[in-house]
Amino acid sequence: MIVGAGFGGMGAAIQLKRLGLDNLLIVDRESDLGGTWHVNHYPGLAVDIPSATYSYSFEPNPHWSRLFAPGAELKKYAAHVADKYDLRRSMRFDTAVESARWDQSAQMWEVTLAGGETVRTRYLLTATGFLSQPKMPEIAGIDSFGGTIIHTADWDDTVPLRRKRVAVIGTGATAVQLIPELAKEVGHLTVYQRTPIWVSPKMDFGVPTPVRSLFAGVPLTQRAARMVGTSILEVMMVSGVLHYKEAPAVNRIAERFCLAHLHRQVKDPELRRKLTPSYSFGCKRPTYSNDYFPTFTQPHVTLETTPIDRIDETGIVTADGGRTEIDVLVTATGFNLWDTNFPAIQVIGRDGKDLGEFWRRERFQAYEGVTVPGFPNFISLNSPWSYSGLSYFTTIECQMRHMERLFIAMRKRGATSFEITPEANAAFLERMTEKVGHSVFALGDCAGANSYYFNQHGEATLLRPTSTLNALREAGRFPTDDYAYA
Ligand code: NAP
Repeated sequence: MIVGAGFGGMGAAIQLKRLGLDNLLIVDRESDLGGTWHVNHYPGLAVDIPSATYSYSFEPNPHWSRLFAPGAELKKYAAHVADKYDLRRSMRFDTAVESARWDQSAQMWEVTLAGGETVRTRYLLTATGFLSQPKMPEIAGIDSFGGTIIHTADWDDTVPLRRKRVAVIGTGATAVQLIPELAKEVGHLTVYQRTPIWVSPKMDFGVPTPVRSLFAGVPLTQRAARMVGTSILEVMMVSGVLHYKEAPAVNRIAERFCLAHLHRQVKDPELRRKLTPSYSFGCKRPTYSNDYFPTFTQPHVTLETTPIDRIDETGIVTADGGRTEIDVLVTATGFNLWDTNFPAIQVIGRDGKDLGEFWRRERFQAYEGVTVPGFPNFISLNSPWSYSGLSYFTTIECQMRHMERLFIAMRKRGATSFEITPEANAAFLERMTEKVGHSVFALGDCAGANSYYFNQHGEATLLRPTSTLNALREAGRFPTDDYAYA
C-alpha cells in the first residue's frame, strides 16, 4: 500500500511493479493523482527546476512547452505516467489515511482510513510529500475577517479579483510566482513581507517546435539537455550550499548575482533595501523570477514590511497603527513540515513505537532518508535527510533504486520482512550530522531566514547534505546487511 498518488508515490509504484509486486493499492486524500501538481493551481504556477530535469529520467517528456513548464503541464505529465505504467487501476481517491499499526505476529501493517475502514498490507510506503500540510498564519483577528481568505494551496478560481483590493501575506517561492500575476488583475495589491527572498534571473523561454520534435525523435538530445540542467543545479547545491566551509566564495557569487538582478530591476534604494535578504544565500530555498521585483515598482502595488499586528473585519492593521482596507486576503504562508508532516499520518511500529514521538524525542532521522529502526516493512519516502539535490525527481529515483536493492536482498534470503538495524541508522545519522556541519545551514548566517529546512530544534535535517551522485551511488550500493530480514 502506498499513501500518496503524486510523483513520489507513482515512482514507488513503478518500482514495486518492476519487482513483480503488483498487488498494489495507492490511496490519496485528493480527488485525483498528481500530488502537489493536482492541489496547486494558483495563477503563475510553474515548475522552478528546468522541466527536462524535473521529470523521471526513464520517462522523458519531449512536449514541455517551456524550459520551466507551467503547472498544468506537470499535472498532464503525471496523468500520462499513470496511464502508461497502468497505475490508475490501483488508485483510490478521496481516501484519507489516519494511522497505521504494525502487527508483529502477522508481519503486516494494519492501516486505518478516515471513516474507520481498515486495510491490511505486507508493505507500507508513505509518499505524502514535504509540502502538503498548508500553514495558515496565526494572526490575531484573522477569523473575524469578513472578506475572502484563500490559501495558495487551496486556490479558488471563482473568487473575483478584478479591480479588488487584495493583500498577500508571504514572500516565499509561491508568492514570487503569484504576485506578478495578481498585479495584472487587481485594483490594489499590498504584499506583507516578513522575510525577503533571494531571487535570481529566470532564463526561461518557449521550447521551439523543431526542438520538441528533435527531443521526440532523438531522445538522446533531451537526455543531454537534462544532463546540463542537472549539472548546473548540482554545482549550485554542492558548492554554494553544502560545501560552504570549503568554498564560501561560491555562495557570495550567488548572492552578488541576485543583488545585481535586484539592482537592475529596482531603482528606488529604499525599495531595494526592503527587498534585500539579510541571511546567507541557500539558508532557505531561493527562487527565480524576472517579473517579481518590477511588480513592486508599479503604482498600485505596495510592499509592506511593518509587521502585522492584527486583522479585523475589513482590513489589516500593522504594528505602527497603519491600516489597509482589503477585499481579499491571500495567504501564501507555505506549509507546516515539522509539526504536522513528519509523519503525515500516525505510524505505530514494533512494540508500540510511535514514529512522530520517536522523531521528536530522539532527533529526526531515517536511514538513507528511507527507513527507520522499529518500523519493519515500512518505507517513508518523505523523511528527514531524504531530499537530495534540487529536483524532487533526484530524490524519487534514488529511493526507487534503494527499494530495488532492498527487495532483491530480502528475496535472496527467502525473507518477506525487512527492518533497518539501529546501528546502521545511527551511523548514517552521525555521518549526515557531520556533513551538515560543512554547509551554509551550520556556517552561514541563517538566523533571520525562517527557513523550513530547519526543524523545531534548529537542525537542518530536511536536505541530504551530500551530492546527488553520492546519494545515487549509495542507493545502489548500501550494505544489504544494514537491514535485518525475517
Ligand atoms: P514558504 O517558502 O514557506 O513561504 C511562506 C511565506 O509566508 C514566507 O515568506 C513566510 O515568512 C510567510 N509567512 C508565514 N507565516 C507568516 C505570518 N504569520 N506572518 C507573515 N508572514 C508569514 O512557502 P511557499 O512560498 O509556499 O513555498 C514553499 C516551497 O514550495 C518552496 O520553497 C519551494 O520548494 C516550493 N515551491 C515550488 C514551486 C515550483 O517548483 N514551481 C513553486 C512554489 C513553491 P517567513 O519567511 O518570515 O516565515
